[in-house]
Amino acid sequence: MAYCKSCYRFRPTKPAATANVNASPAVAVLCSYFPNMARVAPKNCVHFLLDALQRRRYTCIGPTIRDAAIVYEEIRAEQDLPIGYTDEQEGGTYRLKKRDDEARFGYTVGPQSWKQYLFPPSTLLMKAQRTPDGFRADAHIEQTPTYAFVGVRACDLHAIAVQDRTFLKGPYVDPTYKARRDAAFIVVVNCGQAGRTCFCVSMETGPMAKTGYDLALTEILEDGRHEFLVDVGSERGDEVAQEMPTRPADDTDSSAARRMVDRAVSQMGRTMDTAGIKELLYRNMEHPRWENVASRCLSCANCTMVCPTCFCSTVEEVTDLTGDHTERWRRWDSCFTAAHSYIHGGSVRPTTLSRYRQWMTHKLATWIDQFETSGCVGCGRCITWCPVGIDITEEVRAIRETDRGKGH
Ligand code: SF4
Ligand code: SF4
Repeated sequence: MAYCKSCYRFRPTKPAATANVNASPAVAVLCSYFPNMARVAPKNCVHFLLDALQRRRYTCIGPTIRDAAIVYEEIRAEQDLPIGYTDEQEGGTYRLKKRDDEARFGYTVGPQSWKQYLFPPSTLLMKAQRTPDGFRADAHIEQTPTYAFVGVRACDLHAIAVQDRTFLKGPYVDPTYKARRDAAFIVVVNCGQAGRTCFCVSMETGPMAKTGYDLALTEILEDGRHEFLVDVGSERGDEVAQEMPTRPADDTDSSAARRMVDRAVSQMGRTMDTAGIKELLYRNMEHPRWENVASRCLSCANCTMVCPTCFCSTVEEVTDLTGDHTERWRRWDSCFTAAHSYIHGGSVRPTTLSRYRQWMTHKLATWIDQFETSGCVGCGRCITWCPVGIDITEEVRAIRETDRGKGH
């Protein structure tokens, strides 16, 4: 392995064997925006990718259509992908539409994220059984699933990194998250189009992934051409790539892939000015905009459920009717529920105003103090899936335009 002197990324120095017998063994250590050692695979390469991953006993999780949305579920074959479909998104709106091509990844992000596989909505923590000698408690040790995530967008890769800080750093490491995260194989798909609610460029999280993956694909769709640029990000990614039919990429291929990503940049539907955002929110805790947004917000918690970085949870004890058996479950919760901030004697955040303010200031300000990163990656899900179309970028803009504490 060696570092590329151009992009400062770790690169294999040996040529990857390929299924293409005519492939050149030439290898360059230098790479440009897309590395010279990237390879080009045909449009049906996901078929070979899934085969290679399944041979390694990965459960492949990827995009597929269910309930008129693109969701992440187990995919066993290339035909499970949303081939020829795209999504149209706006505040409070999501629609699937047919494309006029056979794009495998011609959509942005749907209602789900990868967090449901790394931080499951329900986790059994322990169970206890009454015995003649009293209750016997057993910690629940799950058999860790080995997932390969196929189709991870750059913003969601950043969201995984944000959750890594929450669950893996510091004195309390979450064992469920750690085991699943350590086992996961990540196949990124760089975006060739952006949605109306995307703003990853503002958050510097996309639309192209730069590190933290095993393989990165860029789907090239232009002038009748339909291929993938394949970039290797790890040794195990290299091993899998060797089982896909590829040829070495040249400058033309890299330029074509670059044009796809540039197109996504140009289509970005939203922006957020993040300059001094932490201080902006801290000095506007009493801004009248909070009342405005509270008058529209339903406290439904949708935004927190779809957000790939939100991690609030609660712990429940469940007993059977006999009282002989009890289980302790961790379940997703939301800062939008009154119960989540219930401390002795009542809820600390009894109003919708206080809950929305808590959520947005945590995402964009206190998260930075806690975890040295923003809690928002600009995926736009909270805008699309808010039933009344509340838009976090618009709320920031409104506060910035009437910043009450500016200059104080
Ligand atoms: S706050 Fe909204 S835009 Fe930001 S990461 Fe969460 S869901 Fe995505
Ligand atoms: S901002 Fe929208 S999605 Fe979030 S709690 Fe309020 S109404 Fe629900």
